[in-house]
Amino acid sequence: MIRSLYTRIVVIFLVSVVAGTLLSFFMVTWAFREQLNDNLQIPLVQFGQDVARLYETFPADQAEAYVREMNQLASYRIRIYKAVDRYQLYGAPDDSRTVYASSEQVERVLHGEQIRINSKGVTIELIGIPFQIEGQPRAMFIEPVGSTSVSFAAKWLLNFALYALLSGSLVILVASFFLIRPIKQLTQATKHIAEGDFNVQLDIRQKGELGTLARSFVEMSRDLRRLEEMRRDFVSNVSHEVQSPLTSISGYALALKQRNLTQEQRDRYLDIIAAEAKRISRMSDSLLKLSQLESQPQLLRRSEFGLDEQIRRVVIALEPQWSAKQITFELELPEEHLTGDPDQLGQVWTNIIGNAIKFSPDGGEIAIRLTPGEHDLQVSITDQGIGIAPEDRERVFERFFMADRSRSRKYEGSGLGLAIVRQIVSLHGGQVSVEGEPGAGTTFTVTLPRIPPNSILS
Ligand code: ADP
Repeated sequence: MIRSLYTRIVVIFLVSVVAGTLLSFFMVTWAFREQLNDNLQIPLVQFGQDVARLYETFPADQAEAYVREMNQLASYRIRIYKAVDRYQLYGAPDDSRTVYASSEQVERVLHGEQIRINSKGVTIELIGIPFQIEGQPRAMFIEPVGSTSVSFAAKWLLNFALYALLSGSLVILVASFFLIRPIKQLTQATKHIAEGDFNVQLDIRQKGELGTLARSFVEMSRDLRRLEEMRRDFVSNVSHEVQSPLTSISGYALALKQRNLTQEQRDRYLDIIAAEAKRISRMSDSLLKLSQLESQPQLLRRSEFGLDEQIRRVVIALEPQWSAKQITFELELPEEHLTGDPDQLGQVWTNIIGNAIKFSPDGGEIAIRLTPGEHDLQVSITDQGIGIAPEDRERVFERFFMADRSRSRKYEGSGLGLAIVRQIVSLHGGQVSVEGEPGAGTTFTVTLPRIPPNSILS
């Protein structure tokens, strides 16, 4: 029970308030004990002196008659001692709380000493005043009956503290409930997330720290949901992409078992099996590359090289593909140098130019333009191919995305090339974007800083 934050807050509050109130009460009483004693003593002494004066002014029997009629006897009890064991009582009769002076104290007062007896802290219990009746020494002991104004004040203070404590506890009970509610909600939400339910709704309107915590929590759960969706998509994409070539491999392998096949059919089936196996192998290479780029970006090497030269080399390396389709190139590549990982950036141009060739019609033209900026270099690759639908433009960089799957089958590919491009470009501190309309060609633009930020490449 005590483990709950709510109980803890309430208990801590109560303990601190009770302890604080008691401590301050005793400290104040201790600090003011002298003043309190004096305040208590003054009316008692004054009353005693009045009584003594009466006895000194009037004859004894007359004075006694006066004293018996005095109003103050309602609040004081007077004992006048002639000797240690002989006294006359005035005022309220003795009760269980009556305090008697000891013989020694009576003796002291009879010898002319004024004494004060307060055995219990600040409250005066008895005061002894010496005086004379007809020249004979007497000891008068005055005792307050009922509560004095000072003890009343103390009681009032204690009551006040008690009521303050009660009402404070009530307020803290309610306040803690509202204070703890968002934390309870957050705990509940954490449990949901731990169980795999990322759809977290929090009704926390607080501003302050708890509000910020709640908002960050909702954002975090949204990110987690997105990650989880990505993970699921990834797994299903991988299995789907692996499944289809495997199905055709096993189908054609079974077909090969037939005896009555012509050599031509046999060769065709074997070609298909080899092509599908190559597709799986390419895909696993790409996946490996992507995961390496994501998990070990520090493996990128940094060196300065001629970018124009590199792009030209990539175009030459792709010659078999473009010459088969009679594609021509228009190159605008001024001499420019760049710092980065040449192998990885070579992969960028291979993927983009490879796509441009793949999606271009026979006899099309591809323009590659290098535009130098003050701090960066921009490379744009424009083809006259099938173009990209506006809704697909951002998605082409996602893993396994292929704009039109049935048509893309015709073009071959795994949908990983541009994901690798984006990863490499962003590791170099650059950006890649795409423009174009369906049927009107496509332009990919890569912007790279001349020198990537130090933290990115080693
Ligand atoms: P793929 O291996 O399928 O080429 P990419 O990641 O390189 O994978 O490309 C993803 C998709 O983006 C392609 O399947 C294609 O639909 C689209 N795409 C990429 N480049 C072009 C382009 N030059 N013209 C038209 N569509 C393109």
